[in-house]
Amino acid sequence: MELELEALNLPSDNERPIVIAGPCSAETEEQVMNTARQLRSKGCHMFRAGVWKPRTKPGGFEGCGEKALPWLKQVKDETGMLVATEVAKPEHVELCLKYGIDILWVGARTTANPFAMQDLADSLKGVDIPVLVKNPVNPDLELWIGAMERINQAGVKRMAAIHRGFSSYDKKIYRNLPMWQIPMELHRRIPNLPIICDPSHIGGRRELIAPLCQQAMDLGFDGLIVESHCCPDDAWSDARQQVTPDVLDYILSLLVVRDETVTTEGISQLRRQIDDLDNQLMELISKRMRVCREIGQYKKEHNMTVFQANRYNEILEKRGAQASLCGIDPECAAHVFELIHQESVRQQMEIINQ
Ligand code: PEP
Ligand code: MN
Repeated sequence: MELELEALNLPSDNERPIVIAGPCSAETEEQVMNTARQLRSKGCHMFRAGVWKPRTKPGGFEGCGEKALPWLKQVKDETGMLVATEVAKPEHVELCLKYGIDILWVGARTTANPFAMQDLADSLKGVDIPVLVKNPVNPDLELWIGAMERINQAGVKRMAAIHRGFSSYDKKIYRNLPMWQIPMELHRRIPNLPIICDPSHIGGRRELIAPLCQQAMDLGFDGLIVESHCCPDDAWSDARQQVTPDVLDYILSLLVVRDETVTTEGISQLRRQIDDLDNQLMELISKRMRVCREIGQYKKEHNMTVFQANRYNEILEKRGAQASLCGIDPECAAHVFELIHQESVRQQMEIINQ
């Protein structure tokens, strides 16, 4: 099934990347206006702020709700920026339309729920508003496409996908794993669907915003949606991943924007892939160390020695044989595993001596 799409028709249509920026949540009128004015002064055309916040656990800040919609309207009236917010229920859609919200996005938790998506789609029948659909929290491309089909079948033709990474049990480098192959496959399947990257929710940390934005450009994404807050450290949600409008402007000024049809930048694209793989390697090594520490605990409880020569030999032999099959010099593989083993022993010694 194909999506029937029309151009998004946003004021920045000729710009690449399209940039949507603003705080994770609308907190107060002052915070919204202050952030919006700063972003506008940096040339931003589209403002985001969450009004209804899906929180993992109850009791946290769940957004200001309807009270915040007039603040977004004020942003629109005063700065001329288009305003965007997340909708999860038909009543959200209705309120957004009432307050003149320009762009809606569907959050990752909602995309994962076909009932909720169908309710949203039904509430959007006959409404001409751009709808951006985040990937579901789980790495399921069909579920993502299915969610977009429902909205599209309701008659919404101005659509884009937002890649915000995929939830994982282990949150080490990334808050949500980028798994770039999934949005890339989406692009292959639906080439005329714009894809926007959300580095804030992928990274979960400020330091990762710049490299993730660049990676998104290297991979040919059409735009970025970035969380930006006038006082990031005081943010009521997602404080660690928000950047000031100044910092965002700096990050964007350094971006190398690539053209999908020009291939001379091949080497840096490859390097981005290497960076991504290296990040994955680090995550795997750290997972392995965690299991090693558990083994250390077991050895301690059972009075076993940390160093077990038989097991060490077994690892070196197994990986040496596998290395040849993978086109890697067995001696090189042995070195790598010697070093990893060394670190495991060091960590287990720590545990045993605690
Ligand atoms: C958000 O954009 O603030 C948000 C809640 O995102 P996600 O749905 O990607 O978790
Ligand atoms: Mn957020």
